[in-house]
Amino acid sequence: MTGVALITGGSRGIGAATAKLAARRGYAVCINYVSREDRARKVADEIRREGGSVALAQGDVASEDDVLRIFDVVDRELGPLTALVNNAGITGNASRLEGYDAAAIRRILDVNVTGTLLCSREAVKRMSTKHGGKGGAIVNLSSVAAVLGGANQWTAYAAAKGAINSFTVGLAREVAGEGIRVNAISPGLIDTEIHAAAGLGDRLQKMLPMIPMGRIGTPEECAEAILWLLSGEAAYMTGAILPLTGGR
Ligand code: NAP
Repeated sequence: MTGVALITGGSRGIGAATAKLAARRGYAVCINYVSREDRARKVADEIRREGGSVALAQGDVASEDDVLRIFDVVDRELGPLTALVNNAGITGNASRLEGYDAAAIRRILDVNVTGTLLCSREAVKRMSTKHGGKGGAIVNLSSVAAVLGGANQWTAYAAAKGAINSFTVGLAREVAGEGIRVNAISPGLIDTEIHAAAGLGDRLQKMLPMIPMGRIGTPEECAEAILWLLSGEAAYMTGAILPLTGGR
């Protein structure tokens, strides 16, 4: 076994592709999801069919109680955690700033930022050599929106991903001497359901002309970058934010 990996938001999109690739690379994988148990089960079934080891953990990463319960599932069913992918994320409904109320803003920040910080905290408690752990790696999901700003679509989401960039650098430095590497990928346009969920079903096709490579990225391409960052091949890399944008 390569190690034990928790993928938050592993039921669909980039998280599902990452869970499947991690299992193929020999990780025992815990798939977290919040509401789509059917989709999470489908990913788990695929992993099991290929001979992989998998656990399912329902929970909202924005809830501290849920996060504790998710990590409890990992501890009990898979063993000591060595890899965390903070993938769960939402954009909220696409809107100019005037369209947001406090509850919508808080939810976007809570899922993307609080969720990432809480899950990372629990991972550090288990991985850090300071706490008796054997080290490990964390990969956060940022977005190119963090630097582009998300104007007219999702400034709150972009601000949340900006926070992810800062946190990636900060935590990387905090735990670099404790056997834990912390990096992020920063995808551009990736073909998942997140765009339609924001009410922008035609976003990918509309933005296609702005991509120098002339195509949309795939969840599998993100998964490859994430698994590389988790692997020993990236042993000297920490605090990095890797763009995956097709040149944009
Ligand atoms: P997606 O297809 O919409 O899937 C989102 C996943 O997150 C689902 O598994 C969902 O679970 C889970 N999730 C949502 N809220 C959650 C919560 N509160 N607690 C736990 N899980 C939760 O999204 P995606 O496009 O794959 O995006 C994955 C990550 O990449 C996100 O952080 C996103 O911001 C980032 N990203 C995506 C793109 C892109 O173009 N797609 C670009 C840049 C960055 P359920 O299935 O149970 O709802």
